Amino acid sequence: MCAADAWEAMEAAAKLDGINLAPSSVGDMFRSIAQQKAGFMQRYQTDEIVNASTRTYNGVKYYLKPKNAPLAAPNDDAKTCSKHMLGVAVDVAGSNGERLEWMFNNVAKFGWSWEVVPDEPWHLRYVAGDNIPEAVTAWLQTK
Ligand SMILES: [Zn+2]
Repeated sequence: MCAADAWEAMEAAAKLDGINLAPSSVGDMFRSIAQQKAGFMQRYQTDEIVNASTRTYNGVKYYLKPKNAPLAAPNDDAKTCSKHMLGVAVDVAGSNGERLEWMFNNVAKFGWSWEVVPDEPWHLRYVAGDNIPEAVTAWLQTK
């Protein structure tokens, strides 16, 4: 059982409630190191930007360019890398209004939680590990 099953189970339940849950792009589910690095280099620069949020990558300080959402540095160690690189995170498209309300009321049932609240309402990570949530087991039995 993996995070993908828990995502599909949650997507199916949302659909039954008339809510469409979808990732914001194919790159906002699992990301390879190369994909994470490409995204990181697009959004960050080494030239200082005063008061900008920063990340350290390979010992170098990077500054977030204006109008960009923060992104984890493409470090390859499981402790500091993006949960997307571990295949346990999804960015949900249009995570506001009714859809966000549904997420607040339901994601925990499927083993998901927010990592950066409230700054990143779109970013969910699977936290149940091997303790398969009942709602996911029930969905797997309908497959
Ligand atoms: Zn994310």
